[in-house]
Amino acid sequence: MIINIGLNDLKYRYDVYQMFNIYFPLDELKFPEAADFDYIVNIENDEIIFKNSTLEIKETVGDNIKDSIKKAIFKGLKEITNDVYPWGTLVGIRPSKIALKLLNEGKSEEEIIKYFYDKHMASEEKAKLCIDVAKLEEKFVKKNNEKIAIYIGMAFCPTRCLYCSFASNPIGGNKKLVAPYLNALSHEIEKIKEYVDKKNLEIETVYFGGGTPTAVSNEEFEDMMNKVYNSFVRDREILEFTVECGRPDSITREKLETMKKYKVSRISINPQTMNDETLKLIGRNHSVEDVKEKFNMARELGFNDINMDMIIGLPGEGLEEAYNTVREIKKLKPDSLTVHGLSLKRGSRLYENFILKKGLGIKDQEEIAKMYDESKKLSKELGLKAYYMYRQKNMVGNMENLGYAKEGKECIYNMQMIEDTQTIIALGADAVSKVVFLDENRIERFPNVKDVREYVNRIDEMIKGKIKLLDTLYK
Ligand code: SF4
Repeated sequence: MIINIGLNDLKYRYDVYQMFNIYFPLDELKFPEAADFDYIVNIENDEIIFKNSTLEIKETVGDNIKDSIKKAIFKGLKEITNDVYPWGTLVGIRPSKIALKLLNEGKSEEEIIKYFYDKHMASEEKAKLCIDVAKLEEKFVKKNNEKIAIYIGMAFCPTRCLYCSFASNPIGGNKKLVAPYLNALSHEIEKIKEYVDKKNLEIETVYFGGGTPTAVSNEEFEDMMNKVYNSFVRDREILEFTVECGRPDSITREKLETMKKYKVSRISINPQTMNDETLKLIGRNHSVEDVKEKFNMARELGFNDINMDMIIGLPGEGLEEAYNTVREIKKLKPDSLTVHGLSLKRGSRLYENFILKKGLGIKDQEEIAKMYDESKKLSKELGLKAYYMYRQKNMVGNMENLGYAKEGKECIYNMQMIEDTQTIIALGADAVSKVVFLDENRIERFPNVKDVREYVNRIDEMIKGKIKLLDTLYK
C-alpha cells in the first residue's frame, strides 16, 4: 500500500518517515508535493499539527523540535491504529547507552524512567530494561586500551537462510573456494598473532563466528581450531572463547570434541524456531530433532555454556508456533538465550517472495508483542537475565534483540562489541575490525572485503590496512 504524507517542511522528512515506519513498516511511504494525502503533518513555529480524515493532534513545540514532531505523529498513529509500540519514538540502536549515561550523571531510576517517557514516550518496562542492561554492562565492561577482542569469521554456511543479511556462502556450491579461503584466513591469523605479540596486547575474548565456523569438514575444522587456539588462546589468560556453531546441521561429534580439546568455553546451537515447517521454509537444512540431538551431544561432552538463538516473527509464525518453540527450548535448558526480532525490509527477497506471494503475513502488533512476552517468560523460567541488547531498523514489532544469560554466563564479547568499548581485531571475509580510542571517545573501522575470492586475492592488502589502522592506537 502507498501512504501519501503531506509535510510542509521537508527538512524533517526523515524524522517523520521514522515514525510512520514504526506503524507501517511494509507500506510505501511517500511525500508528494500534492496528492490526496492520507496524513498531513504541519510544522509551525510553536506547534506541530498532525491530522488525517478522522483525527487532529496538536503538540506544542518543546526544547527539541524533532522530539515534538515525533511525539505528535506517534500519538496520532497510536490513536488511529490502536497499536502499542513500547519503545515509543525511540529509534536508536543502543538504547541502554542512554540509561548508562543518565546513571553516570547520578540520575535515579525513577528519573530515568520519567526521562524515557517524557522524551520518547517509551514504556516503564523498556526504561527498566535499559537500566538493568546498563548496570550489568557496567559491571563487565572494563575499559582498557591494551585489552582487545579477536573475531574470526567463517565465510560459509551449510545453506543460506532466507533472511540472512551476512556475507555467507552456501558451502555446497562453493567447495572450490574453501581451501583457498582457509589458507588466506590462516595467513591473516599468523600475521595478526605476530602483531598482538609484538605490541604486547592482552586478548580478553576470542569469538569465532561467521557464517558458520563448523560448516567445513571435520578435518578442516580441526586445522582451523588448532591455528586459532595456538595463536590466540594458548598461554594467554583469556576470559572467553566462543564458537558460534549456530547451525545444528553443521555440528558433528568430532567437531564438538575438537572444540573441547581447544578449550572453547562457550558455544551456540541455534534453532531460531522449533517448528519443522518453518525451518524448511526458511531454508535451514535441519530439523527440530537435530537441534535436540546436537544440544544433548554437546552437554554430554561437557559443554556447560551453551547459547541458543530464536527469532520472533518468522514467516507464517504466530503465537502458537512461539509457544512450541519456547516449550522445546525450555526442555533443553540453555545457559543463555538470544531473542531476535526478524528484520524485514520492503522489497527484500523475503518480503516479496514469502510475505506477498505466499501470503505468509506477519502477525499483528498485539500478537507479535505476545510472542516477545513468551520469550521473556521463557528466560525467566530458565533463570536467565537480560544482559545485552540492540535494536535494528525494520524489526517486526519494532522491539529489540535481547541477550539473556545465567549469572556468570554473560558473553563478554557481545557486551564489548555492542557498547563499542573495546578494540576488536576481526579476521576473515567481511569481518570489520574496530579500533576504539577510549581517551578520545572515537572509533575507526577497517572492513575486510566481503567477496571470498577478493578476500583471498587481496589478503595482504587487508592485513596491511588493518595493521596501519591499529598502529594509530598502538604506536
Ligand atoms: S546461519 Fe546465519 S550466517 Fe549462515 S546463512 Fe543462516 S543467517 Fe546467514
